[in-house]
Amino acid sequence: VKRPSILVLGAGYGGLTTVVNLQKVLGTDGADITLINKNEYHYESTWLHEAAAGTLLPEQVRYDIKDVIDSVKTKFVQATVEAIDVKGKKVTTDNGVFTYDYLVIGLGFEGETFGIPGLDKYALSIANVKAARYIREHIEFQFANWSAEEEKDDSRLTIVVGGAGFTGIEFLGELANRVPELCKEYDVPREKVRVVCVEAAPMVLPGFDPELVSYAVGKLESKGIEFSIGTPVVEATPEGVNIKKGDDKFEFIKAGTVVWAAGVRGSKLIEESGIENMRARVKVEPDLRAPGFSDVFIVGDCALMINEETNRPYPPTAQIAMQQGETIAKNINSLIKGEDTMPFVPDLKGTVCSLGEDDAIGVVFGKKITGKRASFMKKMIDNRALLLVGGPGLVMKKGKFNVL
Ligand code: FAD
Repeated sequence: VKRPSILVLGAGYGGLTTVVNLQKVLGTDGADITLINKNEYHYESTWLHEAAAGTLLPEQVRYDIKDVIDSVKTKFVQATVEAIDVKGKKVTTDNGVFTYDYLVIGLGFEGETFGIPGLDKYALSIANVKAARYIREHIEFQFANWSAEEEKDDSRLTIVVGGAGFTGIEFLGELANRVPELCKEYDVPREKVRVVCVEAAPMVLPGFDPELVSYAVGKLESKGIEFSIGTPVVEATPEGVNIKKGDDKFEFIKAGTVVWAAGVRGSKLIEESGIENMRARVKVEPDLRAPGFSDVFIVGDCALMINEETNRPYPPTAQIAMQQGETIAKNINSLIKGEDTMPFVPDLKGTVCSLGEDDAIGVVFGKKITGKRASFMKKMIDNRALLLVGGPGLVMKKGKFNVL
């Protein structure tokens, strides 16, 4: 009898957790598992703001996929997926065409610019490890240039961060600590540097506890971060961004660096696949299958799930992606055995938003925390993700231990 073949696209939190759990639940000969990913490494998307600000080396946020999968049970193929044909049951990549009995799509997120002119061209996005490394180098280049040039253009030293959501705030927290280091390294007076957060919504961190939000804003402002709230970016140019400050009032912020951190969507390949989707995210069935395709599962940021309590979608998080990976592995095992699948029920343990190396805010198991305690908790969450995928060895290699 031919063994069923399982094809997993993407080795992010969702894809890797699916594979690691498939290896556990399927016997040695239960199925042929193939994992396809663009790079030979996995990167911790939740640490990318650190790599982008330069507070963590890009090398530290990634690890080799081969080190965490069982090569006897899973075949890893480094390839870029180019097209997903769910009707024809085949996936085209730059390294061959693959067929499957069960498909798991975990291709993660892409930046969403909401059609605002110029953003896709002139703003940088913390989308992956290469993009994060580019942002770090770009900021350093601006500082080095300012230092070396005769006629100084101070706008080189202005960094605009679009978006005061989770990613924007975490990035600002790192920048707040990194800027004084950069000033020292490149002989730049601190008062020459502007870091401005521009947000269209009337608040910072929507959905977060207001007391924690005001703690975060106070801390960031005390480190020189400026906030411009309720002021949408209407255009980006090579020189900076234009923001709307009132009915007919606009302000142009001249900036050497613009980072757009104000929205994500799923992979564009989903839109081209023929699966019903909203902004490249698939509203999945309770057992995480794509509607209309009983052999296709969606994991992580490409999946859209409505929280019945709030009637709004769950935010795309690594926490949910990893839990979905566990459920998908169990459900594929059930389908192979001819049993029923089970619905996915998220088990939300809380959220911690870091404000740099030594500070954070969060709600964990229903309790509000701030400061060093929250920061310690954040590092434990980061280490736990490593533990679940690669065991204690990976935690020792890549974990965060500077916790006191
Ligand atoms: P990803 O982790 O993005 O993985 C997708 C994988 O697919 C990648 O390996 C990519 O290389 C690969 N891929 C993409 N396209 C192709 C292709 N065409 N061919 C082959 N391979 C491809 N969540 C939290 O829970 N807590 C946090 O504190 C948190 N902080 C965050 C901070 C930042 C700066 C950012 C950007 C996100 C943060 N998130 C956080 C959200 C979290 O990172 C995502 O929800 C999570 O990464 C989604 O996991 P995923 O498996 O769907 O995708």
